[in-house]
Amino acid sequence: MLIDRFNRRIDYLRISVTDKCDLRCTYCIPEGFTEFEKPANWLSFADIERVVGAFARLGVSRFRLTGGEPLLRKNLPELVARLARLPGVQDLSLTTNGTQLTHFAHQLRAAGLNRLNVSLDSLQRECVQTISGKDCFDKVINSLQVARKAGFEQIKINMVPLPGVNTDEIEDMVAFCIANGFILRLIEVMPMGISGRQQPYLNLLELIKNLQPKYHLHESNRDFGGGPAKYWESLDGSFTLGLITPRSQHFCATCNRVRMSVDGTLYLCLGQDQSLALKPLLTANCSNAELETAIKQAIDLKPEKHEFNERPEKIVRIMAKTGG
Ligand code: SAM
Repeated sequence: MLIDRFNRRIDYLRISVTDKCDLRCTYCIPEGFTEFEKPANWLSFADIERVVGAFARLGVSRFRLTGGEPLLRKNLPELVARLARLPGVQDLSLTTNGTQLTHFAHQLRAAGLNRLNVSLDSLQRECVQTISGKDCFDKVINSLQVARKAGFEQIKINMVPLPGVNTDEIEDMVAFCIANGFILRLIEVMPMGISGRQQPYLNLLELIKNLQPKYHLHESNRDFGGGPAKYWESLDGSFTLGLITPRSQHFCATCNRVRMSVDGTLYLCLGQDQSLALKPLLTANCSNAELETAIKQAIDLKPEKHEFNERPEKIVRIMAKTGG
């Protein structure tokens, strides 16, 4: 088991398979950003498989593929199939912007992907374009239907409420999720890089005070995937809402995850700099024992908490680099 210095059990690894994205969401990749990792520095599928195998032997059972936009990585279903059959991998999920999902949903499901999170910040075509820089609304909506048909039962919608941009749509998004059986996850924008820092965030603890009586929500103890969200369920079970509140109520004391970027750097916290590069070890064809020792050493570096409120300027890494 991986236990860090603060007695937190680490059982979740998020893996960025590319830092590139076909969208430019205002809070994520800054306009004109060019500092993407060179393909020569990317971990190969074989390397990723080794790292996931090592984490799984150390008791980590949940893995999420993300990015950048993970479906831009060539042959992603092949990676999914390779990871899904590793002993100890119990839950394999993907976060995507949905622009390529129509094409890949069936292949991903057949390859063994369990769950999907799809980012959708608005139900208005123009607003989606304003936030993401592309007219991709129809593609994303269509991809959600295709994903359902492909057999993904649990689909979560990630929405980042941006005051003055899409916060007036939160109840429309609730209705959309109820009508389609999606779980809605609202995420407070984090000050990652200049793009994240420029955005005001909506305090979700304030929001829930209004939503709770209206939708008869109660706090849920059910496990919806081991991530950072606090879940609320409606009394009749027709609606589940996840709130991710790194700004208004940080959840660092229960943090159970670490992230690996496309070049094989383990980041121990979204909002801090501690990291450990695994690629040199993999390139040197290290043994499994050496890889596991390095991972344990990295876990010892995991900081107690982020400082998004105290030092918002601290993290220059954008979310697409660390892997959201
Ligand atoms: N491209 C995929 C997508 O759009 O879902 C996966 C990567 S994206 C970085 C993962 C999630 O991070 C998305 O839901 C996105 O909205 C969120 N995100 C990006 N930058 C963020 C920020 N500064 N604060 C909060 N969430 C952010």
